[in-house]
Amino acid sequence: MILRIPKLKLGNKIALIYFVLGFATLIAVNFIWLLPSLSETKINAANLQLEIAKRGAQEANSFIDYKLDSLQKLSFFLRSEETEKNRETFNRFLQKDQSFFEITLIDETGKEQIKVSQFEIFTEPELIDRREEEYFQKALAGVSLVSQVFFNEKAEPYVIFAIPIFSFQKRGAITAKLKLSEMWQIVSALKVGPESRAFVVDDEGKLIADPNPSLVLKNINLSDLAPVRKIIENKQIVDGLAGEDRYLNDQGRSVLAVGVPLQKLGWGLIIERPEEDAYSALGSKITAFILIFLLGGLSIFFVGRLLVAYLFGPMKKLGDGTKIIGAGNLDYRLNIRTGDEIEELAEAFNEMAGQLKDSYVYLERKVEERTKELKAQRDQLGQSAKKLIDRDIVLGEVRKQQEKALIDATEARHKAEEARIASLNILEDIEEARKAQEVEKNKIEAVLRSLTDGLIMLDQFGWVSLINVEAELMLNIKKEDILSKRLGEIEGPIIKKIDEILKMEEGGVEKEEIQLGGADERILEISTAPVIGIDKKMLGQVIILHDVTREKAVEKMKSEFVTIAAHQLRTPLSAVKWTLRLILDGDLGLISKEQSETLQKGYQSNERMIRLVNDLLNIARIEEGRFIYGFSKISFVALVEETIDSFQSSVNMKNIKIKFERPKIDIEILADREKIKLAMQNLMENAVNYSPAGGDVTISLGCDKMNLTFSVADKGMGIPKKQQERIFTKFFRGENAVRVETEGTGLGLFLAKNIIEKHGGKIWFETEENKGSTFYFSLPLAK
Ligand code: ADP
Repeated sequence: MILRIPKLKLGNKIALIYFVLGFATLIAVNFIWLLPSLSETKINAANLQLEIAKRGAQEANSFIDYKLDSLQKLSFFLRSEETEKNRETFNRFLQKDQSFFEITLIDETGKEQIKVSQFEIFTEPELIDRREEEYFQKALAGVSLVSQVFFNEKAEPYVIFAIPIFSFQKRGAITAKLKLSEMWQIVSALKVGPESRAFVVDDEGKLIADPNPSLVLKNINLSDLAPVRKIIENKQIVDGLAGEDRYLNDQGRSVLAVGVPLQKLGWGLIIERPEEDAYSALGSKITAFILIFLLGGLSIFFVGRLLVAYLFGPMKKLGDGTKIIGAGNLDYRLNIRTGDEIEELAEAFNEMAGQLKDSYVYLERKVEERTKELKAQRDQLGQSAKKLIDRDIVLGEVRKQQEKALIDATEARHKAEEARIASLNILEDIEEARKAQEVEKNKIEAVLRSLTDGLIMLDQFGWVSLINVEAELMLNIKKEDILSKRLGEIEGPIIKKIDEILKMEEGGVEKEEIQLGGADERILEISTAPVIGIDKKMLGQVIILHDVTREKAVEKMKSEFVTIAAHQLRTPLSAVKWTLRLILDGDLGLISKEQSETLQKGYQSNERMIRLVNDLLNIARIEEGRFIYGFSKISFVALVEETIDSFQSSVNMKNIKIKFERPKIDIEILADREKIKLAMQNLMENAVNYSPAGGDVTISLGCDKMNLTFSVADKGMGIPKKQQERIFTKFFRGENAVRVETEGTGLGLFLAKNIIEKHGGKIWFETEENKGSTFYFSLPLAK
């Protein structure tokens, strides 16, 4: 990893280094005095404690020595065989030294001779043999010794001294019990600081003397403590400086222990002192260290800051000033009076700024001059460039125009080429079309030639474009005289007539007959029809001249025959009618019912025959133009009522209801009364005939200012759609009508139409198969 040095200003860097070094020095110097001082303090404390312990031990030793010594001195006063005297000596000894509370004299055999105690008196029998005891044997061998520690009934510790008696001839020994309480006072008085504790252990490590006697009574063994072990086992002095000399005592306090062995007794004296007490002097040293460190640190800090401010203030000023000068303010001058190198540097900067200013002014002047020159040159260049650009633009324009012209020319050439190819194609197409037309024309001409009818064709402008041979013959005219001319421009009565017919028709299909002059009195039926192209455009007109002379002659003959036959039939039919009437009315005698019914049927058949004959006669008259009308003013409403009345019998037979709402005002017309009645009869008859039994027939009448409108509506079988256009033709009968009503002539509507039209009226109908029909006619009102 690369250690990155943070970016810091020079002043801060120096301040940082100063602080680090200052603090390091401070810490080092302090530690140099602190550490030895600390260890010395510790040693001093331990030494002091040890000194006191040594003194205590010395006192304890002296105490024991003193007691032993006094016993030995006592032994010198004892005499063999002088028992009472010896007893007296013992008593005095005990009174003098209260710390001994029992003293015994043992003879050379080991038997107790005298036993004196402070608390009781022993009689002869209470004296025992102590030959086996170790003390006695050792003392008899000449060794003075001190026993282990014992405790009496009051739990007071004591030791037994045994010393030989040299003044006896045969040797003997004194044993004396010594209370240790006196020695304990010596030990308790040993103090190092207020909380120290001195105690004594015996050669087994048992606590035998302690400021707290209850602990002693507990018979505690302290041989586990390291210092105790060192003293009683190794007879070593414990100086408190080893690690194991510090331990937690029974109160849980960390203590520092020193100790010395009590040589003669094999015991040990130990002084414990709480560590914090022993080292209390250390705390003040550490506090001193911290204070010195803090004060030293603060002064380093402030001095450092002052130093940096003093050293780097002018430098910052210098830096700021150079920035201002660097930014172009050449009049700015640095004012630093430190009297050192920084001031010199500032002066040098000021001088440099002055020189710069001069150079700048000079340069500016130069630049200005040069700018002027350059500007002049640039203007010149600009003008030249402008001229060049203008010329370029003009050239560009010319070039563009040329290119455009070239493109146009190329396009025109392409177009011309395309047009040429298209023309060629068209020419080819035209040629093909022409050929096809030629073929068509030949075909048409062949057809036309083979036609028996004459044919003239006019184009859309009315010019004759085609005429066949038959037409030439019929019109007695030459093809060349008529082609590419209008009909109006051509001479001849028939052509004139045809022209009139065409003008009248205005594009519809029409037939008209004209009579040709001449000996043979030919009759032509002229049909004209518009020729409509695929695009529904009128292409022209075709005129067909059909020779109907022969048909007309045959028709006339037929009509004449019908007239004659009808006339001839009418007379016998009338005779039969009246004869039958006479018989039926009983004028010729009574007839039976059966006879009457049969004759009635015959009468009705005869009636139908009469009607048929009348119809036929009327038709023949119409066709021959002999149907004569006699017009008079009549009341139309009364005529309608009269006609209805004449129907009642046949209506009753079929149980049909005829409804007629009589208008309030009367309607007058100029008409042939009988013929109008005939027309109305025919319409009403049909309505009844073609309605089912029990049906309704409604007759209505209305009028406006000009015309009346009459209608007959039924709810009968109606007329099939495909037959509707033939309904007014002669002899036509609907196929559904033939199935239901076998009788009928198919002449009624033909007649009615003729009659109404001859009165200047119109006739029409509305019908739907199996729903019913309504027949209407209108007639002009009388003025
Ligand atoms: P006819 O009634 O004697 O047959 P018409 O000339 O009166 O002759 O009628 C011609 C035909 O028109 C009839 O045969 C019938 O088919 C049809 N027709 C006329 N009137 C009606 C009507 N009201 N309802 C249905 N069909 C009719």
